[in-house]
Amino acid sequence: MLFVGEAEAGLADVLAGLRQAALAGADKAACLDAVAGKPGVFLPGRTPLPVQRVRALDPNAPTLLATPAHSGFVSGHAAFRDMFLIEVNRGCPYGCRFCAAGYIYRPPRQARLADLKALIEDVSPRKVGLVGTALTDWPDLLPFLTWLRGRKTKFSLASIRADGLTPELMTALRQAGLRTLTLALEAPSERLRRACNKHLAMDDLLRAVALAGKFGVNHLKFYLIVGWPGETPEDYAALGPLLASVAEAGGIGVGKRGVAHATLSVNPLVPKPFTPMQWAPMASEAAIETAYGLVREAVKPLKGFRVEVEPASMSRLQGLLARGDERLFPMLVTAARGDGLRRAVAAWGGDVGWYLDRERPADEVFPWEMIDIGVARDLLWREWQRYRQGQGSAKCPPDGCPACGRCGALL
Ligand code: SF4
Repeated sequence: MLFVGEAEAGLADVLAGLRQAALAGADKAACLDAVAGKPGVFLPGRTPLPVQRVRALDPNAPTLLATPAHSGFVSGHAAFRDMFLIEVNRGCPYGCRFCAAGYIYRPPRQARLADLKALIEDVSPRKVGLVGTALTDWPDLLPFLTWLRGRKTKFSLASIRADGLTPELMTALRQAGLRTLTLALEAPSERLRRACNKHLAMDDLLRAVALAGKFGVNHLKFYLIVGWPGETPEDYAALGPLLASVAEAGGIGVGKRGVAHATLSVNPLVPKPFTPMQWAPMASEAAIETAYGLVREAVKPLKGFRVEVEPASMSRLQGLLARGDERLFPMLVTAARGDGLRRAVAAWGGDVGWYLDRERPADEVFPWEMIDIGVARDLLWREWQRYRQGQGSAKCPPDGCPACGRCGALL
């Protein structure tokens, strides 16, 4: 059995139903019968398809997060060590076409300041990690950070949009001990940033980098994606001049006054289900390696920059897992037995190229469409066409879905 959607929207009810049936002595089949009709429950082979993703929406306040998620426990052995994670927003209004979070969590919602404060007062953690998509879009971010600092609670932020970085926020982050600032560049050229709908103005990027230099940030990290459908060497030719402007704005690698060093973290595009890229081919290993070479060339003349890349073969594996179907099952079983993914794929013998290398036709039915995420397929297709035409699309309006209705997320 699977529960599809947001846990607050009914998982507790499903678990209570299972417990009640089990305590009454029901066998496995009867326990599943007891919850089969509940929203979000997916019993493969039994539940009519597609299964609706359930969402915890307050119809009177659809732009607010009804119940912000948070860590169930804090541990020195957790991936985010000794940190109490809280959810500031869910979904994202920008609609970057490569980003699953921007589509599968629609509609975008933000936490109430009072709810997060109450959570912190209840738990009294030593350190808080703010989790979300576009954290700087939350209008209460600065008041919340100031409040945390006032009660001597440490904090850290997942990542920051360049256009949301202000001197006041930078001050708060530096006071909290921030030494590395991470900004997403995403694509090497303006043309591709527009096509992927990044909504990033160069002025904003350079202003953020200059702020980092002025406020003594030690290290800047930039995310860059390569392997875009239709990318050309001209797209990479635009990267060198852009990085040179960034280096100048932040004083990167020039000495004591400025950012000491910068990292370009480069990953290939992995087309994801339920995004406009679900129809796109993935770049071949050779094309990814060529793109890495062009990035290294662009960085070569600059001081203080280093490039980190993900192995192309690992990204292709991610791509296979992202858009694979049930025929991958034997391969996953082999991998789970401890043979490792690479060896399992080699032994599997399936046609990796069929999953990764072809552009999919408009009417192809995808295996993941057994789930209805609540976002219209037509919208995703239109966004894919707009990518190919190099056209951006507007972000979700601040008034939310009732004033928009473009993707049907609230219908
Ligand atoms: S209906 Fe409009 S506001 Fe709501 S998630 Fe879709 S695009 Fe965003």
